[in-house]
Amino acid sequence: MQIEPQAFDRVLSSMCTEPHPVAREAAERFLATNPGDPGTYPSVTALEDEAVSMLGDIAGLEDPSGYIASGGTEANIQAVRIARNRAETRTPNVVMPESAHFSFQKAADVLGVDLRIVPTDDSFRADLEAVRSCVDEETAMVIGVAGTTEYGRVDPIPELGEIAEAVDAMLHVDAAWGGFVLPFTDFEWHFDHAPVDTMAIDPHKMGQAAVPAGGLLARSDDLFDELAVDTPYLESTSQATLTGTRSGAGVASAVAAMAELWPEGYERQYVRSRNNAEWLADALEKRGYEVVDPTLPLVAADVPKSTFDALRAEGWRISRTGTGELRIVCMPHVTREMLASFIGDLDRLEVR
Ligand code: PLP
Repeated sequence: MQIEPQAFDRVLSSMCTEPHPVAREAAERFLATNPGDPGTYPSVTALEDEAVSMLGDIAGLEDPSGYIASGGTEANIQAVRIARNRAETRTPNVVMPESAHFSFQKAADVLGVDLRIVPTDDSFRADLEAVRSCVDEETAMVIGVAGTTEYGRVDPIPELGEIAEAVDAMLHVDAAWGGFVLPFTDFEWHFDHAPVDTMAIDPHKMGQAAVPAGGLLARSDDLFDELAVDTPYLESTSQATLTGTRSGAGVASAVAAMAELWPEGYERQYVRSRNNAEWLADALEKRGYEVVDPTLPLVAADVPKSTFDALRAEGWRISRTGTGELRIVCMPHVTREMLASFIGDLDRLEVR
C-alpha cells in the first residue's frame, strides 16, 4: 500500500513547513547517521557544532553551547531539567505565562517541578506583575516566549530577566517558532538583549529544515553538565541529550538550511510571511471578523465554529486557539494564492 504524505497546498495551521531543497538533500544524505554516537559518526558531530554556532549567530550568543534536539518539546524539557538540577531546593517551581507551549506541562510532569502558570495581559503577553508576585526563593526558572504558538506574541524578555535575577532563577526563552523571524524585527528577545540562560530555537519550524531539527542553546557549557550522564558502551564518555539515538538528517538539514538562508534568505521569507499575514488580517477584518492584530506572521480571528468546520471539510488544515479563534500561521509554504483561495472558500461557505 502506498500512502502519500500530506500535500502542503491547504496547510494553514502547521508550525512546520516544506524543507528548503538544500535541507531536503542534506537530510537524505545523512539519514543513516546518529549524532548520539559521536565516536562512530564524527562527521555529523562536526556538522552539529556548526549548527550550534550558526544558531548562536541568530540568537545573539557569541560562544554558544547546545545541540540539535528532536524539537521544541525536547529543548523545553531539557531547559527545565537544567534548572531543576541546579536548584538548591527539593521543591523547585517554574513560572510561565499561560501562553507558553504545552510542552512545559510535560516537562513539569516528568521532572516533578511545580508549574506556576500566570495570566497574560490585554496584548496576550506575560503579565509582569503576575510573574513578579508568583516567583519566590524556590523559583528555579522563569519562562518567556518569543513568538507564542497561538498569537505570535513576544513576551517582555528583558523585564522577565530582571524578575528572574532578583530571585536567582534562570531565564529560559522559548523562541522555537519565532527564532528565525525575530532577528528582522525590533523585539528584544535574545541573549544579547537580556540575561537569558537557555533558549529553544527550532530549525524545523521557520528555519526551513527537515523534521526533526529543534535547537537548544545555553549561555555556558557548564549548564549542560547538569544533564550529562556517563555512556559506558560508547567511545564518547557522556551524553547530555534526552534521546539516545537521534537523527543525523535533522542536524545536516539544519546546517544546510542555515548556510543557504541566514541572513538574507530568512529576511526575504520573513517579509513575505509578514505581508501575507497583514493581507489576510485585512481581508478578514473587511468581512467583519474580529482579528487579533498580527505582530509576527500569525493571524487569529473569531470565525465561528460552524464556518471553521465547513472550511475543514473543504480540506483546509486549520486550527483553533484555546478560546476558539481560527489561527493561521503564515509559514514559508503559505502563498498569497493559497490565502486568496482560502478567503474565496470562506466567502462561499461562511455561516453567520
Ligand atoms: N514552543 C513553541 C512556541 C511552539 O510553537 C512549539 C510547537 O509549535 C513548541 C515549543 C514545540 O515544538 P515541537 O512540536 O517541535 O516539539
